[in-house]
Amino acid sequence: KKITIAIDGYSSTGKSTVAKQLAKALGYVYVDSGAMYRAVTLYAMQQNIISKDNFDVNRLVSELDIVKISFKYNEQLGFAEVYLNGTNVENDIRTLEVSQNVSQVAEISEVRRMLVLQQQQMGKEKGVVMDGRDIGTVVFPDAELKFFMTASAETRAQRRYKELLERHEDVSYEDVLKNVESRDLIDSTREDSPLMKAKDALEIDNSNLSLAAQFEKIYVLAQN
Ligand code: C5P
Repeated sequence: KKITIAIDGYSSTGKSTVAKQLAKALGYVYVDSGAMYRAVTLYAMQQNIISKDNFDVNRLVSELDIVKISFKYNEQLGFAEVYLNGTNVENDIRTLEVSQNVSQVAEISEVRRMLVLQQQQMGKEKGVVMDGRDIGTVVFPDAELKFFMTASAETRAQRRYKELLERHEDVSYEDVLKNVESRDLIDSTREDSPLMKAKDALEIDNSNLSLAAQFEKIYVLAQN
């Protein structure tokens, strides 16, 4: 019987890597909820709603009905890529600049309301693995299986730094660490659905856990 699997946790804990692997192994659909917050952020940056020293929250809220986010499965990659108003933005949403703005966008109640509804719609049929910050608490409080991933900030920043270098982004480790820490702080202290572990979620600290070991742990539980 197919179930719903929620994977929440701090930034760069490897949620999406394990969620993708898990969805593939189970024949489930994977949904990256963070990609949706990132796509809204990219929209705001492209439209100059967010600039270096200004963020016009009211304008973003008033334009939300023209921000269309969708996913399209990419056979070659083996997961669904995110689209913003019909354009594939899977790569553009992963820059450090987007990461530096996204948590402020995710604090806006109207943004959350819109995306949570869409996420719930996508998870209507069982057989979904969704990762994010509020999946087990708000989006799918009834999910049959919930995980909460943690790792030290340094471990997470190292991983994210390596990823950004591989994408040829000119960033410093210090900036990446600062970003990871500031997102954690904003995400876990915001008024609207702050990041927290659901009561019935299983916490996994993967600071010293290999990807394979972590996957094994989760996969066994998902099969029962
Ligand atoms: O998962 P990822 O790191 O790509 O998410 C980017 C940001 O989007 C998070 O730091 C958080 O601010 C926001 N987010 C959220 N709720 C989710 C998923 C992501 O607030 N369910």
